Amino acid sequence: MAEFAVAMRTLGCKVNRVEAEKVTAQLLGSGVRVVGERDASVVIVTTCTVTAEADHKARKAVRHALNLPQAPIVVVSGCLAAIDPDGLAALGERVVVEADTDAVAARVAALLGTSVGDRLTGPRVGDAFRTRAVVKVEDGCDAFCAYCIVPYARGVPRSVPLAEVVAEVSSLVDAGVAEIVLTGINIGRYTDSGADLPGLIEAVAATGVRRLRVSSIEPGDVSERFLAVAARVPSFCAHIHVPLQAGCDRTLSAMGRTYDTAAYASVLTRIRDAFPGAAITTDVLTGFPGESDVDFDRTLTFVRACGFSRLHVFRYSPRTGTPAAVMAEKVPVAVKSERARRLRALDADLRARFAEAHVGSDAEVLVERLGDDGMAEGTTREYLRVIMQGRGLAEGDVVTAHLAGVERGRMTAAW
Ligand code: SF4
Repeated sequence: MAEFAVAMRTLGCKVNRVEAEKVTAQLLGSGVRVVGERDASVVIVTTCTVTAEADHKARKAVRHALNLPQAPIVVVSGCLAAIDPDGLAALGERVVVEADTDAVAARVAALLGTSVGDRLTGPRVGDAFRTRAVVKVEDGCDAFCAYCIVPYARGVPRSVPLAEVVAEVSSLVDAGVAEIVLTGINIGRYTDSGADLPGLIEAVAATGVRRLRVSSIEPGDVSERFLAVAARVPSFCAHIHVPLQAGCDRTLSAMGRTYDTAAYASVLTRIRDAFPGAAITTDVLTGFPGESDVDFDRTLTFVRACGFSRLHVFRYSPRTGTPAAVMAEKVPVAVKSERARRLRALDADLRARFAEAHVGSDAEVLVERLGDDGMAEGTTREYLRVIMQGRGLAEGDVVTAHLAGVERGRMTAAW
């Protein structure tokens, strides 16, 4: 067991992953080694609490770390640490709960008898960031959708200073990163130094980054200004994730979502006007209390009509403290699972249609991985996965390729 060595166990969303990577960079910068869990004196578990399944996985990860032969200290952070610190602390004497992810590195360093600088000592460059890096620009949410625990776990919206975001992106671009994904909990709430999300996109684009994405944006934040700015930024990738959650007005209203299906459909129309052929992806939540068979059929029909390129399907999971958790008319688990199965079948169909529609076209591909078989794998701006001949290519290269066909969900291409 190495004295100054930690292991990372990260669960949950992109924001959790970026935060855990920053903790890693801070610790590495202060001489703490990041090792496998069996060699660590401290295991850091970054938790999620978005569903009951996520809670279960988080507690399981903590128990697993506690039972490691070297009996490490287990530092627990992330959203479950914010929602249920006592429950986590009760899992064992060696559990240290630190809900403030910005304080985790210092807390771990103190446990190890060392200290960390308060700022990142270097860019987050490493194997995982050779081609694409995710940059957190916003935290928190005040929308309080009826099913969602996130506002309770992450608090009110707050933005990373514009100058700090631009500095981080510039250092990543200087280090050779070709693509930046801006992420947050509710990124449309971004505001700093008079800049809103479109202003941030312009500032980040000015760093010279090759490709720029926004991880997810609420329908209400897809403004004319957002689309106008994004459309005139050459690096902005025409792949936009706009959570829908349900395709039935009655369910949307019960969820406390701020739009109906007509408003959502017009958002998609405006996106396609600004970005013809854009990839639009979404989240759909099934099994919300009170969702009838008729409601679900409406959702299925609406989702099919929207022509998404990909769906993320979730089954409703009651979260204590949210309005939906005390709503009547719970949907039985078997019905929820069946509805999720039908949505995933639709997802497979939508993905296949979107890929087929690109056969015969040329696309810009970012090379992300070179295989031992000499093949290269990468993504287009529309987030289609591509496989092609890799001779003469390097990770991070951006090439124009001719999309010849579809094979096991990936585009086959020649460049
Ligand atoms: S917008 Fe709604 S679903 Fe998204 S994080 Fe906020 S409360 Fe949760």
